[in-house]
Amino acid sequence: MANNGKKQIDNTKGELVMENVTRVFRIPGAPACTALRECSLTVPRGSLTVLVGPSGCGKSTLANIAAGYDHPDSGKVLINGRPVTGSGRDRIMVFQETALWPWMTVMKNAVFGPAMAGHISKAEAEKKAMALLKKVGLEEFKDKYPAQLSGGMQRRAELCRALVMDPKVMILDEPFRGLDVMTRELMQEYLLTLYRDTGLTMLFITSEIEEALFLADRILVMTNLPGTVKTEVDVDLPRPRDFHVLSTERYRQIKAQVMDSLYEEGAKIFAKLDRAEDLLGTCAN
Ligand code: ADP
Ligand code: MG
Repeated sequence: MANNGKKQIDNTKGELVMENVTRVFRIPGAPACTALRECSLTVPRGSLTVLVGPSGCGKSTLANIAAGYDHPDSGKVLINGRPVTGSGRDRIMVFQETALWPWMTVMKNAVFGPAMAGHISKAEAEKKAMALLKKVGLEEFKDKYPAQLSGGMQRRAELCRALVMDPKVMILDEPFRGLDVMTRELMQEYLLTLYRDTGLTMLFITSEIEEALFLADRILVMTNLPGTVKTEVDVDLPRPRDFHVLSTERYRQIKAQVMDSLYEEGAKIFAKLDRAEDLLGTCAN
């Protein structure tokens, strides 16, 4: 055997590992805020791993560190075993807030990243962008400006723009928050199509249990602040998934498992509030 019987590793896909990551925010005149404490996780190559946790538990802090936009006080972040020291083309982040440039058409937005990075030609970038826009039903909107699109279309354009960059890991920080329920469900289906077709490693962050269950291979549940991953749940629901999965017994079982873990965190907050010690800001930890 050419590879001496060793399993071939696909290095076009990234494995994201965080080891004992701690991040403390220090603002003069305010108590220090430990957003993450000794937080460890693995996002396996080609998996769609969903991180779920209550609002304010450190999810965006974790996303920013994974993307290399922020640095931990201690601990390590590795992509395919290499330390992450800053932002890089192998990671891309999609946020809740739109990051499309309003003065550029959908197509120009999509090919701007590759044009700047210079790793593929303009013609190649346009071809890739067009194929992606087709997958999400936006081919006829390629010459429109973001303001001419609905919220859901803007989100889809943004997913395409991120994927044109060919990242090894895509980090999505509550990308569908704020969309109406129907649009959100549609977006989840589009994301699953893109995941199926690219096999890309994705770390998807949400505070919605149903969204997590519908999308994930694995769910990581976070604790309250200071955030850390407390539970890992395998979501062994068959793919392709559609709304029928929501009425299966297995879905109900996994949902109960995730809810137990999350509600335990909720109960801790209420217990704290009952003691009236922490009413002055969630971050005095
Ligand atoms: P989530 O995304 O889960 O809602 P965040 O990661 O945004 O949570 O925030 C976690 C905690 O860290 C919050 O208490 C927040 O106030 C605090 N925090 C986040 N970013 C900063 C910052 N730049 N400066 C100070 N505190 C911050
Ligand atoms: Mg957040």
